[in-house]
Amino acid sequence: MSRFWSTKVNELTPYVPGEQPKVSNLIKLNTNENPYGPSPKVLEALKAEAADTLRLYPDPNSEQLKKAVADYYDVTQAHVFVGNGSDEVLAHTFQGLLKQDKPLLFPDITYSFYPVYCGLYDIEYQTQPLTDSFEIDLSSYPTENGGIIFPNPNAPTGRVLALSEIESLLKQNTHSVVVVDEAYIDFGGESAVPLVKQYPNLLVIQTLSKSRSLAGLRVGFAVGSPELIEGLERVKNSFNSYPLDRFAISGSVAALKDQAYFQQTCAAIINSRNTLVEHLNQMQFNVLPSATNFVFAEHPEQCATDLAAKLRERSIIVRHFKQERIKNFLRITVGTEEECQTLVNALKEILT
Ligand SMILES: *Cc1c(COP(=O)(O)O)cnc(C)c1O
Repeated sequence: MSRFWSTKVNELTPYVPGEQPKVSNLIKLNTNENPYGPSPKVLEALKAEAADTLRLYPDPNSEQLKKAVADYYDVTQAHVFVGNGSDEVLAHTFQGLLKQDKPLLFPDITYSFYPVYCGLYDIEYQTQPLTDSFEIDLSSYPTENGGIIFPNPNAPTGRVLALSEIESLLKQNTHSVVVVDEAYIDFGGESAVPLVKQYPNLLVIQTLSKSRSLAGLRVGFAVGSPELIEGLERVKNSFNSYPLDRFAISGSVAALKDQAYFQQTCAAIINSRNTLVEHLNQMQFNVLPSATNFVFAEHPEQCATDLAAKLRERSIIVRHFKQERIKNFLRITVGTEEECQTLVNALKEILT
């Protein structure tokens, strides 16, 4: 609290990101980063960008990047919005599209940044409970709403919805904006992007932080009807004309074009995830079905806080949440094959 802060700032409860440790000898399985580096073509593009041209502002409209996303998803550039990480795209979406007279709806267990944006922008919201098996049940979402947002696959559960369930919601819910946050879609879900041409109220948000190994570059984008995109552009142009710098634009374009590297690294992660889940099941963990680059698991006899502490003593960091319904779960990012093996060995040692 400070008397120099505005009332608003005194009332905020900011988001707390997962730890980025200062020491480098830890196995970091706590923030869902990709264990593989970005495509070599990205690194080349970034080197080429380190030039005299840095004295010039970047393209305020990031046209090259919008074109790369448009080509990738077979939409027009008018269907694409880009931002400084999908967190920024989400922030503009909350402010520009989801602040309405009726409450915004999202799951009770979900990305914990959503209620933070609601606090920042004074958006009224209602959470909708996940089912007993931790699934989003869109058919139970009230038709009276000022918007709906959920990640697919959901975080931190990792569970995915079929596209048909999202389409059923869109058929019912035509009067307010539906946002699908697809941060993890490339690890096992089906993107809702092909539906944007049919449903003008659908906005799909993605990031290059996870499946494209570029968390450090800060690039996210949204695909939706030109009407929704224009709303986001109005917010962006009232906030920061140059959210993406020259490196972010060039690097992300190169990443989107290197389809082979992307497919190879996603496949490797999915492979490691499947092996990790088998090992966790053998150790009696209850593991939710994951369509992401992390697993969400609880042990029937060990409390999650203790497990996380014991893993940390062995230089492995994982994420743990305090919310009542999920307080006995650990969220573990899928690392390289070798990191997963080290984790499994550590857990075996702790459990015996
Ligand atoms: C990681 C994540 C984001 C944020 O991604 P950035 O592009 O790095 O800001 C958004 N939504 C969900 C559900 C995430 O897990």
